[in-house]
Amino acid sequence: MNTRGNLFIVSAPSGAGKSSLISALLKDKPADKQVSVSHTTRQPRPGEENGVHYHFVSVDEFKALIADNAFFEWAEVFGNYYGTSRQVIEQTLAQGIDVFLDIDWQGGEQVKKLMPEAVGIFILPPSKTELERRLTGRGQDSQEVIDKRMAQAVSEMSHYKQYDFVIVNDDFDTALQQFETIIASQRLTCASQSYTHNDMIVDLLAE
Ligand code: 5GP
Repeated sequence: MNTRGNLFIVSAPSGAGKSSLISALLKDKPADKQVSVSHTTRQPRPGEENGVHYHFVSVDEFKALIADNAFFEWAEVFGNYYGTSRQVIEQTLAQGIDVFLDIDWQGGEQVKKLMPEAVGIFILPPSKTELERRLTGRGQDSQEVIDKRMAQAVSEMSHYKQYDFVIVNDDFDTALQQFETIIASQRLTCASQSYTHNDMIVDLLAE
C-alpha cells in the first residue's frame, strides 16, 4: 500500500478557535497527523515554547531563511514575519502523515498555488460579539491589540471563500467533529484511494 499524507491549510481570524481545534485533534498524538511548527519573528507569549509553538527567530535569521528558499510559504502578519518550512512539509507528507498548516489567508493562497490538492479549511466564529468576547477572555493582549485584531479579523474572514470547507465554531465539540469528518473524508477521495490502493486496483481491473 502506498500512502501519502494530505496537506491541510487551516485559517481563521484570531479568536475563532483554530489553535484549540488543532490541539484537540492532535491531543492523543496520532501517528498519522502532525501540525507544522512555523518560524516567526514575533516575541513568544507566556507559556509558548521555542520549537513547540513556533521556532522564534530574529528578522535577520528569517530573511536568511527566505534567501535560502527554506520556506514553502511566508507572509507578514500583524507586522511580524511567519513562514512554513519547506523540507518538513515535504518529508512528512512523503511518510504518509497528514500535515496541518495553521496559517493566514496569504499563506493559504501561496500553498494552493504550489499544491492545488491541499485542502483549505476556514474556521469562522458564530458572531462578532462572541469573537470579541473570546479575544478579551484570553487575557494575553492589551485592549489596543484586541481592537487591532478585531479589525484584522474582518479582513481575514473576507477570504473565507478561497477555502474548500468552512466550519462555524459555535459549539466546540460539534466543530471538532466536523473537522475530523473533513480530514477522514480526504483519505477517501478518488485521487487518494487510487494512490493508496494502486496495486489492488490494477489487479481488480486486469482482464
Ligand atoms: P499568532 O501570532 O497569533 O500566533 O498568529 C498570527 C497569525 O499568523 C495567525 O493567523 C496564524 O495562523 C498566522 N501564521 C502562523 N504561522 C504562519 C505561517 O507559517 N505562515 C503564515 N502565512 N501565517 C502564519
